[in-house]
Amino acid sequence: METLEFQAEARQLLQLMVHSIYSNKDIFLRELISNASDALDKVRLAAFTDKDLQADTDDLRIELEADKDQRTLTIRDNGIGMSRAEVIDLIGTIAKSGTAELLRKLKESKENSADLIGQFGVGFYSSFMVADKVTLVTRKAGETEGTKWESEGEGTYTIDSVEDAPQGTSVTLHLKPEDKEDHLFDYTAEFKLREIVRRYSDFITWPVRLKVTKTVDDETTTEFETINSMKALWARSKDEATEDEFKEFYRHISHDWTDPLEIIQMQAEGTFEYQALLFIPSHAPMDLFMRESKRGPQLYVKRVFIMDECEALMPEYLRFVKGVVDAQDLSLNVSREILQQDRQIQLMRRRLVKKILQTIKAMDESKYETFWREFGAAVKEGLVNDFDNRTSILEISAFASTHDPEKPTSLADYVSRMKEGQEHIYYLTGASRSIIENSPHLEAFKAKDYEVLILTDAVDEMWVSSVPEFDGKQFQSVAKGQVDLSDDADEDRSKDFEDLLTWMTEALKDNVKEVRLSSRLTTSPACIVGDANDVTPTLEKMYRAMGQELPPIKRILELNPDHALVTSLRTAHSENKEGAAETAELLYGIALLAEGGELADAPRFTRLLADRLAQTL
Ligand code: ADP
Repeated sequence: METLEFQAEARQLLQLMVHSIYSNKDIFLRELISNASDALDKVRLAAFTDKDLQADTDDLRIELEADKDQRTLTIRDNGIGMSRAEVIDLIGTIAKSGTAELLRKLKESKENSADLIGQFGVGFYSSFMVADKVTLVTRKAGETEGTKWESEGEGTYTIDSVEDAPQGTSVTLHLKPEDKEDHLFDYTAEFKLREIVRRYSDFITWPVRLKVTKTVDDETTTEFETINSMKALWARSKDEATEDEFKEFYRHISHDWTDPLEIIQMQAEGTFEYQALLFIPSHAPMDLFMRESKRGPQLYVKRVFIMDECEALMPEYLRFVKGVVDAQDLSLNVSREILQQDRQIQLMRRRLVKKILQTIKAMDESKYETFWREFGAAVKEGLVNDFDNRTSILEISAFASTHDPEKPTSLADYVSRMKEGQEHIYYLTGASRSIIENSPHLEAFKAKDYEVLILTDAVDEMWVSSVPEFDGKQFQSVAKGQVDLSDDADEDRSKDFEDLLTWMTEALKDNVKEVRLSSRLTTSPACIVGDANDVTPTLEKMYRAMGQELPPIKRILELNPDHALVTSLRTAHSENKEGAAETAELLYGIALLAEGGELADAPRFTRLLADRLAQTL
């Protein structure tokens, strides 16, 4: 028997495991089963390629055996095994690329070290999160002598030769005491082992068999029961699996008990092989709009579960899509950081996104209606962020409009209804449909029977300023910029109002940057509009709610030259009548209220209004 020292990096990583900074300790089993599964793959391949190899490939399997009295758990495989030299080399040192990098990062950042290590895929050493001693016995296929390795994880390990070791590897964990607060569970408990295997290793293609004891009629028997389903559903074609199996699988990964709206299967072959099985749920999760909500499919590499929520594979605006992606050519030890930059991952992500968008486009009307109601507001974020797919996203988007109060419209339908002479796609953003519908800005558009999109989602404020056009038609806010809808081009009218406008601009200079005449209005006396690049009131509110400092935003007050209040005010001003300034102020307040805005000084407004009204009676 020899006592050897771990290599320096291995020792550091072990220390992290022993003092277990990682909260999810259950994953040790995933790691050991994954190693066992690899070992089975390898022996199968070795026996296949080397006919002279004395390897036993009958009944390849993984066994779990717990001993409650001894408090041990053994994970056993009859795979390729390791020679003595390999044990020293593979278990005593860490050859993984990225280890040094990981350890350096861990040193630098104390806080999220748990995350970092979790992303790394810690392998065999994760045993030391749950065990204070680990015994590994292995015999390489085709060799006669076995090797026993043992360590308490503290810097040294012993290595010895053993006879009669079966082919393959068994890892016996001498379990630490249960400590639920520290996420250390009873890993001798049948239900716990079943749960972990179901969660992490269900789709391992080898049987995972748990030794169970059964008592029937006072007779106790033990047997090995297969506890994983071994079904890699994503690798099967749609005809090879039933709809119910897909739904069952969806439930399993999503914990959503309603059926998915769409099941999407992808199988890519060739230089870069992967399979994907994705689901669009039929309802939005509670946290769809919470910051930092989780996203992305589960990532498997060659049937081995790597991580939940692989965000590198899914853009944020498709965060509701669930599923599995199984890549053939990725390393099992990929970290989240590496994934973000991996070219294959980026390529996969592009294909997944395209496929999802195509699927949405192909939905029938009732499915699409559900889809858009549940996820539309999230999808629209893609208009801001996903430049490459902007057109596709516009094509699958629907918007409320003045055309039909019941049903949102596609942009293509909007365009098909555009009137002679109408150049733009008009929209108005605001807090609610009723506020927008009653907004004075819409008056002239209604009069001309121009359709206006009614945009009430927070994200609408964002995309309208970043998406220039659809089908060659520009998006144009009815509350921004100059709108010329007047049929008779009477330019001279502003001349008649010049004095009034100059005076009012000065009188209201704390609130607006300009007062001008409007061609937007037919019945209201006034409205407030922004310049093309001005922040809208809704956006302003959003920014302030997020704690952003903004300078006060002044917009433009537009007057209706045909309204009695405006013409009378002109007269009052030209005659230097008392109260003209107050009326001007009231006019501004009215315009603000009409668009659903808030008065800066409501008590003053009501007092002025009451005074005015009193004088009219
Ligand atoms: P990883 O599996 O991520 O490479 P591990 O630390 O878990 O890292 O294992 C290191 C190496 O030890 C493996 O790559 C494999 O060669 C060997 N090994 C681990 N477990 C087994 C096993 N059950 N059978 C055969 N070889 C194993």
